[in-house]
Amino acid sequence: MQIFSIRQISSPKIRWRIVFYYLRDMERRFTTYAQYLRRATGLERVQKISVDAGFTCPNRDGTISTRGCAFCRNDAFTPRYCSGTRDIRRQIDEGIAFHARRGRTAAGYIAYLQSYSNTYAPADELARIYARALSHPSVAGLIIGTRPDTIDDEKLDMIADLARHRYVAIEYGIESTCDATLEALGRGHDFAASRRAVEAAASRGIAVGGHFILGLPGEDSASILRGTADIARMPLSSIKLHRLQILRSTPLEALWLAEPQRFVSWTAEQYIDLVADIIRRLPANIAIERIISEVPPHYLANRCWHGLRSGTLWAMLDRRMRQLDAHQGDMLG
Ligand code: SF4
Repeated sequence: MQIFSIRQISSPKIRWRIVFYYLRDMERRFTTYAQYLRRATGLERVQKISVDAGFTCPNRDGTISTRGCAFCRNDAFTPRYCSGTRDIRRQIDEGIAFHARRGRTAAGYIAYLQSYSNTYAPADELARIYARALSHPSVAGLIIGTRPDTIDDEKLDMIADLARHRYVAIEYGIESTCDATLEALGRGHDFAASRRAVEAAASRGIAVGGHFILGLPGEDSASILRGTADIARMPLSSIKLHRLQILRSTPLEALWLAEPQRFVSWTAEQYIDLVADIIRRLPANIAIERIISEVPPHYLANRCWHGLRSGTLWAMLDRRMRQLDAHQGDMLG
């Protein structure tokens, strides 16, 4: 694997930014996703580029349901340059330019198949799509976002083969460890399906990320912390934690308006306490990729915390972990 040197970057501004992030990561009391990606790719700074490969999902096309998961609204988190009808390499070019305009240049880029279920096609068709993304000269790897029930041995063997030569990870939408919650959301699979899918991928040497939502109807801090024990036992490489965002025009918005008592309401401080408690119960080899997600405010039915942004919440988490003298895994059962 080629190791990228910071001396190869001509811009002093970007060099200093990399040094700043590197020093900040060193001080953190948990494994950051940047640290994990540095190890996994050999690159000092990596930027993910979202790509829409034109898939749908079985919870929308009628195979399981046509309603979709109660919280889902793909357009809320799909960048403007993404379109399932456009060539993948062109989307990557535009994604790189999109991030560069915001000062986010990188030593390498990871194509992130984010929208819908990106393993929902025959294995040979998937192989062609993944190869197209990996053929882009600036792309150092691939992350495949999908549902845990749209994967099988043939697809996993093909992905494992790719992962022997390039950084290739699967990111499963797991959302909750509680089957009653998954049913209420209309997910169409249970937690056992997620566990099987994670284990099947990890056993082939594929890096696996898990996506979880905190604050789903019927769940609270105590039940989430009980479920964390199940997450800690999964062979995950990274984890995304998202506070529930209730998006306009979704079934979840209707449920929230009709039965608000089913939804826990945390202050930002209480939420950060919960995130710290979760991290303390996870093994240190699981990198913490996200603690919140952000969509443009006009999509949100439940705007709260006066628009606190993710950078502020990360700083609150760092401060809270230091106050508690806590580290990732120090409360692992
Ligand atoms: S969250 Fe994923 S699986 Fe659920 S409806 Fe949306 S795209 Fe489909």
